[in-house]
Amino acid sequence: MKTSFEFFPPQSDEGKKNLQQVRSKLIQINPEYFSVTYGAGGTTQESTFDTVIDIKNNDTVRVAPHLTSIGSSKSKTKEILDQYKEHGIDKVVALRGDIPSGMQNTGELRYANELVEFIKSEYNDHFHIEVAAYPESHPQAKNISTEIEHFANKVRAGADGAITQYFYNADAYFRFVDDLEKIGIYIPITPGIMPITNYSNLVRFSNMCDTQIPKWITERLKLYKDDKDSLLDFGEEVVLNLCRTLKEKGVDSLHFYTMNRSDSVLSIIKKLN
Ligand code: FAD
Repeated sequence: MKTSFEFFPPQSDEGKKNLQQVRSKLIQINPEYFSVTYGAGGTTQESTFDTVIDIKNNDTVRVAPHLTSIGSSKSKTKEILDQYKEHGIDKVVALRGDIPSGMQNTGELRYANELVEFIKSEYNDHFHIEVAAYPESHPQAKNISTEIEHFANKVRAGADGAITQYFYNADAYFRFVDDLEKIGIYIPITPGIMPITNYSNLVRFSNMCDTQIPKWITERLKLYKDDKDSLLDFGEEVVLNLCRTLKEKGVDSLHFYTMNRSDSVLSIIKKLN
């Protein structure tokens, strides 16, 4: 099974030290690449860049910065990508992002397909471009059919691959891939996997990105809310079973939202393989 791991850029010295340890553990399973998130509107511009370059200079693994277009300009976007190119970075995760509260200007590239088109027009095939996919639909999509059409626009603009929003229902993923194939879209769509390690954080994130947690799972997570060991065991069982189902049905690549932690991710991957 091919793997990739997503990190957020740490903001403190302690966070940086932690991430170095996490990276050194995850490197041992030979991942395809690490990716580093970006705060929409440029809120983590410097720390994302620093983390990406640190990985590039110190780890023997490919690294892909995330880049959002909302609230930015073409010239700013080009400035950032030029710097990455100069440092030998050749893969990006291209996103629209969500407009930060208080920011009025949506910028020159309003949707991710426009960002992909811009990257292609400026850099041809230098960057391998991953985009986001939403098997359960994006919260702002009018309906699943427009969501699929908007996703297809990103592929037509030049996206090479996609990473999905996390999900706990494998059917949503397979249905999404089938629907895309029906309209001739065949790029690799890597499931995004979110380990379950904390009840309230998971519920909060899932509400924000409109991911459904099946009731049978929430009921048990509620039960184990104050019993960390049981929650971790149950969470691992759920996510491992999801990964096994994906693998059995032919998925050969998984992208883990690590939240800058390695324990549960490593345990899942070891058991999966
Ligand atoms: P788009 O593909 O542009 O879609 C956004 C919405 O607009 C969708 O509802 C789509 O249907 C709709 N749409 C698209 N085109 C049109 C059109 N022409 N007319 C009308 N509607 C349209 N966020 C961050 O801030 N930083 C990150 O690092 C980050 N990393 C992520 C990584 C992954 C793998 C995923 C799945 C998400 C990530 N996000 C990140 C969250 C993402 O930025 C948000 O979900 C955002 O709301 C949408 O970004 P997008 O690139 O999917 O946008």
